[in-house]
Order: sequence, then C-alpha cells, then structure tokens
Amino acid sequence: MATLFISDLHLDPERPDILQQFLRLVEHATTAEALYILGDFVEYWIGDDDTEHGLETAFAGLQELTESGTPVYLMHGNRDFLIGKKFADKYRVQLIPDPLVIDLYGTPTLLIHGDTLCTDDVEYQKFREAVRTPQWQTEFLNKPLAERRTIVKQLRATSQSANSVKTDAIMDVNGQAVAKAMLKHGVQQLIHGHTHRPDIHRFTLNNQRATRIVLGDWYQTGSFLSVDASGLDVHSLN
Ligand code: MN
Repeated sequence: MATLFISDLHLDPERPDILQQFLRLVEHATTAEALYILGDFVEYWIGDDDTEHGLETAFAGLQELTESGTPVYLMHGNRDFLIGKKFADKYRVQLIPDPLVIDLYGTPTLLIHGDTLCTDDVEYQKFREAVRTPQWQTEFLNKPLAERRTIVKQLRATSQSANSVKTDAIMDVNGQAVAKAMLKHGVQQLIHGHTHRPDIHRFTLNNQRATRIVLGDWYQTGSFLSVDASGLDVHSLN
C-alpha cells in the first residue's frame, strides 16, 4: 500500500483532458493507503456556495475515492484557500492545515503547499497576508457570486501581469525559508508544490541527509508522487 501526493492540478472545465486524468488517478488511488492533495486542486474557488464551477464530475471522483476506503486529505493552495467545510463534508475529504507534519512510513515529513516558502516575493506575501484574514474572507464570501467572480478574474489578471516581470529566482522557494521551516518542525523530509518545478532535492540539513520533494503541476499532464515503506516514485498519468 502506498500513500499518494498531488498538487497544483488547477482543475478547470476548460481543460477537460486534465479532468479525465484526475479520474484515472482516482481509479489508481482506490488501492492506495491515502491521497494527499497539497493545494491548488482547482484553478480558483469563490466559495462553497458556487454551483457553476463545472467540476462536479471530478469532485464526484473524490467522493467515490473516500467511499472506496481511501482517505483524501486536502490542503489549501493560493488558488483554492476558500474551499470550506461545506465542500469538505459534501465530498467527504478532510481539510488539513498548512503546514502539517505526518509520519510517512517512519520518516517525519513536512507537508506545505509552498507559497509560504517563496519569501523573496515580498509583494505576494503581503497579498497573501491580506486575503488570509477572516475579515477579508467573510467580506468576500458575503458578496454576490457574480461580484466574487469578477474580483477573482481581476486578481488573476493582476497576478499574471505582476508575475510576468518577476524573475525565476523570486518565484522559487527561498533556501533559508526551507531550512527554517524544516528545522522548526524537526524534519529531514519536505513535500510541497506551488512552484511548478518538480524535482527531488537532496541536501544536508542539521548535519544529516535531507530531502525536498517538489510536486509537478497538471497544466500539461497529470503526475503523482507515490511513497511506500520501500521508497518513493514519481508517476506520470500520460
Ligand atoms: Mn500555488
């Protein structure tokens, strides 16, 4: 039995092939010990009361998975941090906090979406701080759906134009932020997404071997990390 990790699917009805790949993953995951979704499961989320997201088939897959006995753990990303309890209850997924330490076959492992590690992007961190306050969220969720949709569209356009002039280094994780988070949580292993730079980084931390696994995004093709007692493996769904 293996534990599976995915992130940054950015599910969007405009990419039906990716929705199909997610359903293939669901099939695969019915025999897994657990599925962890480490943020940005959907392209954007304006509230659990939105019924026009066009992703019902994919979400039904989540429910099918949990009903088959595979628990699904969902962490918020920067695109879907408004996924709430109503969504979680409906599709029977368990919302997990960012960061979270789990025991992964004997190795304490830190799970993070990844945006909090991009500390060089000062402008983004300010934005994140603002939208993660309960006041901002309550105010936003109290607006009519059409207005929320317009606001999110504007935010996405602003972020795209801001990101287009940011350097690659600014948009990657900061090495010191990585070390600090791992030391704080007493782990030698970290799994995160967000940067869309899938890789397995091996380095020394605290005079011991450390591993940082970066999950891939699903813009072109789906992929997942599979971990079991004998080690880890990255699979493509293509
Ligand atoms: Mn992200």
